[in-house]
Amino acid sequence: WTGKTFTLIDTGGFVPGSEDVFEAAIRSQASIAMEEASQILFMVDVTTGITDLDEAVARMLRRSDKEVIVVVNKVDNHDRLLEANVFYKFGFKENFFVSSISGSGTGELMDAIVAGIKDSEEAEEAGIPKFAIIGQPNVGKSSLVNALIGEERNIVTDIAGTTRDAIHTHYKMFQKEFLLIDTAGVRKKSKVHENIEFYSVIRAIKAIDDADVCLLMIDATTGIEVQDLNLLKLVERRKKGLVILVNKWDLMEKETHTARDYEQQLKERIAPFTDVPVIFISALEKKRIYKALETALDVYKNRQRKIPTSKLNDILLKAIERHHPPAFRGKMIKIKYATQLPTHTPTFAFFCNHPKEIKEPYKNYLENQIREHFDFAGVPVSIVFRKK
Ligand code: GDP
Repeated sequence: WTGKTFTLIDTGGFVPGSEDVFEAAIRSQASIAMEEASQILFMVDVTTGITDLDEAVARMLRRSDKEVIVVVNKVDNHDRLLEANVFYKFGFKENFFVSSISGSGTGELMDAIVAGIKDSEEAEEAGIPKFAIIGQPNVGKSSLVNALIGEERNIVTDIAGTTRDAIHTHYKMFQKEFLLIDTAGVRKKSKVHENIEFYSVIRAIKAIDDADVCLLMIDATTGIEVQDLNLLKLVERRKKGLVILVNKWDLMEKETHTARDYEQQLKERIAPFTDVPVIFISALEKKRIYKALETALDVYKNRQRKIPTSKLNDILLKAIERHHPPAFRGKMIKIKYATQLPTHTPTFAFFCNHPKEIKEPYKNYLENQIREHFDFAGVPVSIVFRKK
């Protein structure tokens, strides 16, 4: 929103003091979110007025030191706007009246949220590649970090974040410099014991948001699981670089083609985004852990890669010539040229006469052509069609 990025956590509903197991689960989600969030949107319903529940939540929120914005929902008309004023009684800093159905008021709310985002302390870290180590509990994240930063001569600073939750470690190796964002270990210090799954997902999201490239660790012995695929999708949706680390490779019985076959099966699971480096490591035995970092650096470079327009068109216009976009309802579709946009993550614009009529399969064809000729391994690539 207005050039700022933030992550919204929806806690799904909240009933304090309830005996119900389901509600207890929601409650612990809300308190985790409260612990993790930098701002809290306290949503209330104008049609019910202030309920006992609202009072209880407000008491809870007053105890937290986080900024609270009251969002009064269902303010669909003028009468309700008058009724909405009762919520000022809570005494929180800001109140916004919205109608989620029509969207009215949401723009102002977004502006207020964005105004509350502090310019991050990351300025001093700008320009240094940032890598996040993510993965399910027990996959070996701590072990990998320990194996890497156990070599203390490499560490420049080790900031155990007071303002940020993940640990950022400034790392120098073979004249290369980068920042490791590590989500492991943190939970061990936390009071939160229940709901590890939800908690680690929030951690992962924050780490992914902060990172340029994510090292997704999976457990060789279990193979890639649904939770891993969910993390992968989060990385892909945010257009971050990706390296898959298959950890605990020491536990596998290996024959000649084990790694090759394993990788092939893995790629089938992660399709269609299969142009991703896969490294087989053992954090425990410190096998190929530096290879993992070097690969992450490669992916970082790939993500910054800019293809000159002339070179791009040399390749792509030929590819388009070989295989035209199919005509749509008798309309011939002509792509005139392509160019890479000056965005953070690789985005290619194709200029053509009927941009809306080009379908997914052709888009995939173009993406594959780009990947075949230029190295974008580990990097989600965006393709857009523009009218010309
Ligand atoms: P985290 O929760 O992702 O930080 O996982 P940990 O680093 O705490 O590791 C969980 C367990 O897996 C520990 O008992 C580790 O010793 C073990 N482990 C981690 N990496 C490896 C590995 O490469 N090989 C083997 N055999 N065990 C490992």
